[in-house]
Amino acid sequence: MNLNRTPSAAFISVVLPVYNELQALPTLVERISSTLDAGHWRYEIVFVNDGSTDGSTQELSRLSLVHDFVRIVSFSRNFGHQAAVQAGMMAAQGDAIILMDSDLQDDPNALTDFLAAWQQDFDIVYAVRTKRKEHACKRFLFDSFYRILNAISSVPIPVDAGNFSLLDRRVVETINALPERDRYFPGLRSWAGFRQTGIEVERCARYDDVPRVSMLGLFRLAKTAMFSFSNVPLTMFYAIGGLSFCVCLILATYALYHKLVTGDAIPGWTSTTIVVSLFGAINSLGIAILGEYAARIYDQVRARPNYIVDEIAQQNRIASTAVA
Ligand code: UDP
Ligand code: MG
Repeated sequence: MNLNRTPSAAFISVVLPVYNELQALPTLVERISSTLDAGHWRYEIVFVNDGSTDGSTQELSRLSLVHDFVRIVSFSRNFGHQAAVQAGMMAAQGDAIILMDSDLQDDPNALTDFLAAWQQDFDIVYAVRTKRKEHACKRFLFDSFYRILNAISSVPIPVDAGNFSLLDRRVVETINALPERDRYFPGLRSWAGFRQTGIEVERCARYDDVPRVSMLGLFRLAKTAMFSFSNVPLTMFYAIGGLSFCVCLILATYALYHKLVTGDAIPGWTSTTIVVSLFGAINSLGIAILGEYAARIYDQVRARPNYIVDEIAQQNRIASTAVA
């Protein structure tokens, strides 16, 4: 047991993005605080109000007056879920930070298991959703997305693990320090490394059946995930270019055979076939080379550190974490 991670020594932050979740807020505060009180934890609940227009703003103010552990970060307008998560991670002061949605889909009872795993020295504990309660079409899309992402991603990103997770302070510092703008949080969390574990948590149904993130929003996030954690869409053009060259060679041989050996080629057909297939192949390879440069520039602009040091051990002394 890590002594810095006990209820007497540690402070916990629970971060929740809020966009028009008026009905859920009192229940959320009640359920989170009773779970953490039962474990005798000291804690804050940080709500990031992402431009709500349904009275959530007033309800959050009321809750912060009633409970001194409630803090609010309010956006000037709606900036989106990932931006709210980022702001919450910046504002949270805890030694461990728990991220969850405020639509009651993430079960507050799981916080007890998260904290127990953190005490067992895991730095990242994420929820693996067992039963999803979305309708079949959305579930199919989620399943396909997670599997494709996992297959092409440059770091293994666990399947069925969303934002619901606990992060140790040093993980939060590492992710907060990234200048990256287009953020896919579960990917950054995997990329950060450290000791990670997944805990199976049943995904509850949304309390009001009206998702605040639209299908278009989810599609954009899926795109961010794929492009931020994989170069496969670009490197695909090497394969396409190579394949086009093979096709070009076969076609050219075939066309020349008819032109020079059998002599039954239609006038103009041989040169057209060779030129079209050759330029197709050259185009694809050109795109692949441009893509290679673009990928390198993107990598440089994102400026993720080349490595993150967990600890440096020297003659039985352990120095603190450092980021390259
Ligand atoms: N949310 C947000 N800004 C938005 C949309 C959603 O802060 O523009 C919050 C929302 O209040 C909820 C969380 O993000 O706490 C997840 O939203 P939702 O339940 O719609 O996403 P889903 O569970 O369908 O992925
Ligand atoms: Mg939800």
